[in-house]
Amino acid sequence: MNKKVIILGGGIGGMSAAHELIERGFDVEIYERQEIPGGKARSIPVFESMDDRGAQGTQGPGVAKWRQMRGHELGRHDQRPWLPGEHGFRFFPGFYRHIVDTMDRIPYEKGRVSDNMVNTTQLLLAREGGEEIVLPSSFPRTPQALKSVFDAVLKLLSGTIGVSLPETQFFAKRAWQIATSSHERRLDQYEKIGWWEFIDASSQSEDYQKFFGHGITRSLVASQAHIANTRTIGNIFLQLVFDIIDPSVSTSDRVLNGPTNEVWIRPWLNYLESRGVQYHMNCSVTNIAYSRGKVQSVTIEQDGRSTHVLGDYYVSALPIERMAPLMSLSLQEGDPRLSHLAELAKHVAWMNGIQFYVTRPVPIAHGHVIFVDTPWALTSVSQGQFWPDYDLSKFSDGDTRDVLSVDISDWETKGVLFGKQASDCTREEIALETWEQLKRSLNDMNGREVLRDEDLDHWFLDPDIRQDPGERRLQENVEPLLVNLKDTWRFRPNAATAIPNFFLASDYVRTHTDLATMEAANEAARRAVNGILDQCGSDSPRCKIWELHEPEILLPWREYDQARWSRNLPWQDPLELMDLTEPMLHAFQEASKLAHIDAESLEKLSEAYATVNSLAQPLFEFPLFQVDDLLEVPKPVQSLMENVRQIVPSGGGQKEAITSTDSIGEKVAETVEEKIDTTRPYRLRIVQKT
Ligand SMILES: Cc1cc2nc3c(=O)[nH]c(=O)nc-3n(C[C@H](O)[C@H](O)[C@H](O)COP(=O)(O)OP(=O)(O)OC[C@H]3O[C@@H](n4cnc5c(N)ncnc54)[C@H](O)[C@@H]3O)c2cc1C
Repeated sequence: MNKKVIILGGGIGGMSAAHELIERGFDVEIYERQEIPGGKARSIPVFESMDDRGAQGTQGPGVAKWRQMRGHELGRHDQRPWLPGEHGFRFFPGFYRHIVDTMDRIPYEKGRVSDNMVNTTQLLLAREGGEEIVLPSSFPRTPQALKSVFDAVLKLLSGTIGVSLPETQFFAKRAWQIATSSHERRLDQYEKIGWWEFIDASSQSEDYQKFFGHGITRSLVASQAHIANTRTIGNIFLQLVFDIIDPSVSTSDRVLNGPTNEVWIRPWLNYLESRGVQYHMNCSVTNIAYSRGKVQSVTIEQDGRSTHVLGDYYVSALPIERMAPLMSLSLQEGDPRLSHLAELAKHVAWMNGIQFYVTRPVPIAHGHVIFVDTPWALTSVSQGQFWPDYDLSKFSDGDTRDVLSVDISDWETKGVLFGKQASDCTREEIALETWEQLKRSLNDMNGREVLRDEDLDHWFLDPDIRQDPGERRLQENVEPLLVNLKDTWRFRPNAATAIPNFFLASDYVRTHTDLATMEAANEAARRAVNGILDQCGSDSPRCKIWELHEPEILLPWREYDQARWSRNLPWQDPLELMDLTEPMLHAFQEASKLAHIDAESLEKLSEAYATVNSLAQPLFEFPLFQVDDLLEVPKPVQSLMENVRQIVPSGGGQKEAITSTDSIGEKVAETVEEKIDTTRPYRLRIVQKT
């Protein structure tokens, strides 16, 4: 008889675990509290007249549509087509491996769900009353992308961005330090330093603080720069940068070509159910019973009735704030590390999406927009442009032409319209304030009006934001998100607990990804399934797990730093490469002074540039060449690179036994290696694969 696995929670972690298990011959049941699958990654069908003009409650207005899709009877309002809402927009950076691999194994019409991912081409930094900055979201391959890099450099030189060149250089040095630091130093030191302190934001300009302090932490990962740990923020920032500067990576940013549940979660659930997974909705886990060294059962509450569910293995894919209260003392006796979950559950922050339905297309950028100056740390995606097969005019009353999906990542800073923090605003005030902050960043003094009030048809805010019964503040958020604060790695559990039949598969688990994302939830699920396979002695292939990839070319620096770290020496760049950039940047700065690039001359330069640009436009539009062609790596070099096993430092050293650990600190191998002698000159040696 097949072994039975009970999965608690049907978000990305739970569904990923179910996927791997069902394909390895287990019986799988999922118990999910909500009536919509997908957890925080869900999209929600929105019934216009019910949204923020009425609907409140746990499930939100999309439930009826979901029922309809699952064969329930239609109600009075259900005759209309539905608009898509979502908990928050979905972004799949280029460095994601695990979740993409799973999406590649979900059938969708004649292809796979992974076919529904679309590369973005731009990243826009919008400034209130300032110059916007458009960056390519991948290595610039087209003349247009090169042009936007050129534009950004020009703005940097002329000081219009606000961050000075020395500040940019200072930040680049800090990023270089992380990139060339060993994993051991990152885990031992950077984990304990706040990002704000590491990039010395207090001593820099307000714009520096906005871009490199709050921009990278608040806007991207909902964490406060002062308390976010440097290891996580640095690692993720580097991954995003590597994806942009690496010509072999097609993009640093992908989105879906339709609402998440339509083009991913629903086909996924169909696939899982077709393989035999039982996905029970409206089922809340209320207790995990532990005795005699293992979990004996879980208690499920449905429609006011409690039942005990039994399995051979239990995988908890509940979010941290729901998991922590279920950690009974007996469970903690089974695995004392689980007692840390209560502490971890305090480290959550609010991040939620709001959608604006507008009556004309507003393709602000072909990708994500970061609203650098907004107090509520807004980011957005104009979704219509990425949904070619989704005719929004056929939905609801037929007026909608675009969906501007916005994530609010700061709920504690006062807004510009009502002077209140988001968590103290009514739902309507949240919508009005967000819209106002967007307008201030996008519409400028010169009459450019990207967002017009008359185009706003209505809006939708996830019902997760609801009146706080405790009245600490006006609203509560039913589904907050884990943020990686300083020195919290030690509280994070492994997917395989010390209890032999109990596993964890959610975004707070220790993973290489190390940031609460869909990628981390999927990686955690793979680790949990591997744990089950180990426990039952299965010879099924283990789920694949990837480390975060960092360029091999930096390996000598990281190894050098590893040697220094093991000798208690601080980080040091042996080649002092970043110092070489100093004279170059000074030369640039002097050149820009000589050219008198002040506001007036910039305007003239821009005019001249615009003329040249318009003359050259046909060239840009006619793809005479792709930069890709120019970047083609010659075949002999390619094959050499494929054969390179490692680029290691040489120059004499001593033999030393070292224990290799992976980036989550688990021991993987013990080897004897020649270590770097830090007192001797540093050279590179390329070792061929044998
Ligand atoms: C606004 C926002 C935007 C985001 N954008 C991105 C993005 O662009 N890219 C990215 O990679 N990540 C993004 N994330 C993070 C990502 O959505 C989450 O990290 C990921 O979805 C977590 O998956 P999970 O399965 O671990 O947890 P969850 O999604 O929280 O799933 C847990 C499930 O358990 C259920 N549950 C809770 N309690 C119980 C109970 N007692 N009994 C039964 N079931 C229960 C919940 O209903 C839920 O379905 C975003 C998050 C937010 C909040």
